[in-house]
Amino acid sequence: MHRLFISDLHLSEETPEIEAAFKTLLENQDNLDSLVILGDFFEAWVGDDDDTDFVIRMRALLASCSERGCELMIARGNRDFMLGEQFARDTGATLLDDETVVEVGGEPTLLLHGDTLCTDDVHYQQFRRLVHDAAWQAEMMAKPLDERRTLARQLRATSIDAASNKAEDIMDVNQDAVRERLTEMGVRRMIHGHTHRPNRHAIGNAERIVLGDWTACHGWFLRERDEELSLECFDII
Ligand code: MN
Repeated sequence: MHRLFISDLHLSEETPEIEAAFKTLLENQDNLDSLVILGDFFEAWVGDDDDTDFVIRMRALLASCSERGCELMIARGNRDFMLGEQFARDTGATLLDDETVVEVGGEPTLLLHGDTLCTDDVHYQQFRRLVHDAAWQAEMMAKPLDERRTLARQLRATSIDAASNKAEDIMDVNQDAVRERLTEMGVRRMIHGHTHRPNRHAIGNAERIVLGDWTACHGWFLRERDEELSLECFDII
């Protein structure tokens, strides 16, 4: 098995360097069996019917990856929480639930974006409940694309999730929440992104692996190969 885990690329029309780096990363892998994207692949997502050149390009890139036989899994983050089944069909990906257990390196492993572990951020958790509500999302999707784009811009400008992509502005996970999810899901390993604090943490006999965010300078991935896991940073420029 040769698999890459990535998250928090925060791709948009304004990140051509990161887009190019992602493309290069895919091209440079030999025999990649699986690519797992653990949320915030996109900086924003207004709906699977989005038809900007950027979105069309990214759909095609992911579709070409799965057409080459690479299994593609994608989770929603707090930025691209509106990613839906149509996007999954368009790209040949499997849309992951908020929490999914997958065997990684021979060990059942909990995959998640990571925002649900930041339980100290009460305001964000309230916001999350609202925007993950099916009725709220249906109401949003009933609006024309242009209006949704405007709303997304407004939401980013005013919401508690607004300001930046810096780690200092994102709360870290709550350790009790981490231990609870490991116990409840009956696993000894979790992999997540979101906090922009890439690291591997031992928690008793369990492990929490945190993926890193991508910037114009560097990117991060976790590589699984022959049951070995390595968290790696690479230069973009
Ligand atoms: Mn996030």
